[in-house]
Amino acid sequence: MKVKDERISRRSFLGRGAASIVGAGLGISGLTACAVAQSTTTAEAESGDEDKPKIKGYRDLGKTGWKVSDFGFGNAMMQEPSLLEYAIERGINYVDTARQYYDMEVVVGKIFPAKRDKVFVSTKLLPELITAEVSVDDITKGIDESLERLNTDYIDCCLIHSVGDPNLGELDRIKNPNVSEAFEKARKAGKIKFWGASAHGPKMIRDFNWLIDNTGIDLIMPGMNLMTRGLEPVLAKAKKKGVAVVAMKSLSAARKIDYSKYMKEGRTVRQALLKWMLAQPDIDTISITMRTYEDVDEYVAISGRPNLTPKEKKALKGYGMLLDCDYCRPGCDHCLHACPHNVPIHDILRYRLYFNNYGREKYAMSLYAGLSEKCNASQCRSCIGPCEALCPHHLAIRSKLTQAHSELMI
Ligand code: SF4
Ligand code: SF4
Repeated sequence: MKVKDERISRRSFLGRGAASIVGAGLGISGLTACAVAQSTTTAEAESGDEDKPKIKGYRDLGKTGWKVSDFGFGNAMMQEPSLLEYAIERGINYVDTARQYYDMEVVVGKIFPAKRDKVFVSTKLLPELITAEVSVDDITKGIDESLERLNTDYIDCCLIHSVGDPNLGELDRIKNPNVSEAFEKARKAGKIKFWGASAHGPKMIRDFNWLIDNTGIDLIMPGMNLMTRGLEPVLAKAKKKGVAVVAMKSLSAARKIDYSKYMKEGRTVRQALLKWMLAQPDIDTISITMRTYEDVDEYVAISGRPNLTPKEKKALKGYGMLLDCDYCRPGCDHCLHACPHNVPIHDILRYRLYFNNYGREKYAMSLYAGLSEKCNASQCRSCIGPCEALCPHHLAIRSKLTQAHSELMI
């Protein structure tokens, strides 16, 4: 199946000379603010983009020494490096990618070495790499592969992908001393500057707490949005210890929902959701997947503007009610132990979101294909659904999973 790419528009951007593209990086290794302002103005004058929105908010990224844009460029679906260059021109200086996102690391690497000092780059090792038995050498090899794919000789932050996911292992996965040893060794060797962990799984809070309490971790990347609850204490702890917090999954399911009837002031519900996120304490930046030039403009337009208008607050209330019985929350595990077949309910419902709301059909289907038939949603057909009684949000889990099975089967 072809991945949808409905709104990509290259517009005038590709017509510009490469020399006109300047980063607005405010990192420690970036240009001075004055130099950034001057060169950006020149680029805009040449390109006719004076009216384009610019990042207005920069925040400390934990103790890394970087001030990063309040929106980071999530690179899960980028078709061409020019989109990233466009985002950098708009002032974005945080880029997130992962080894698991097909060739996305390679696409990011195409803008290097030219723009290497303009962005803070985080990438995630393959989720399956980190196990209770993994060796220092195997992790080092994973870091080396990402370095090569990214076309760089250092990664700003290298992450364990998906802690707190029981499908990948329990706490002993991150308690394996080889994990932090490998990252610290890579740091000493100059291959990485910082290391961290991402998560949206049921045990993410437990695992983030353990990593912050017991290792020299520098950054956590939790799935967090209007619908999630319970993360506040671990985020506050991270902040106190100088561990950077990069939120992800912040749009929950908003991508394809038409909320125009609630948003009569020219903004989108996505912008309202992100403004809500900007107002949350202890968040350093928000990594958000940007697929088109319009996405970049839409998000950058509200940079530095955490204040919701009364209409936006009303819209979010309506949106929250709409999602309440439909959205499986990151970090929740209430129903999982009820399933006699160990169906990874949270994962399959997330794949369904990728398929139906994120335009990532191929990716969703490939993730689903990775599940054994013994624990995929085919099991739900002949089950009375004991999981449903345990969902505090009253999700119709069985019918959602059955539907997901027919959508995601290749
Ligand atoms: S409906 Fe599906 S997920 Fe729920 S208990 Fe039955 S098999 Fe497990
Ligand atoms: S289906 Fe409900 S109980 Fe189960 S993980 Fe999702 S939100 Fe939690």
